[in-house]
Amino acid sequence: MDELTEAFNKLNLVPSSTKKKDGTQSWLFLDEVGHEYKVSYEATSGIITWRCNNSQFPNCPGKAATNGYNKPVTFKVPHEFAPSIKTKVKELSANIKSMAANNPDTTKNYFRV
Ligand SMILES: [Zn+2]
Repeated sequence: MDELTEAFNKLNLVPSSTKKKDGTQSWLFLDEVGHEYKVSYEATSGIITWRCNNSQFPNCPGKAATNGYNKPVTFKVPHEFAPSIKTKVKELSANIKSMAANNPDTTKNYFRV
């Protein structure tokens, strides 16, 4: 698999502000239409179940599943609301931060943001 295909198959992830119980980084997944998810369950098989993470709609049943942190995304339960522009803004700023993180000079500032 070449680099471009690999990037294409990667989920759109942003670092979560909360860490996992074991101290490792946890991730939020942003889908193509602008819904945000947090990990609900990581199976030993590698299948990750994602749960909607919109704080304005805490009871939204929206769920998705992926194999690892890669596409394709299987949508399991539809959302109760339309995606918001706020998620798109978060995606853009996360992309900018990750660009900065890829630049060695700015790496040390990355996790302080
Ligand atoms: Zn939702």
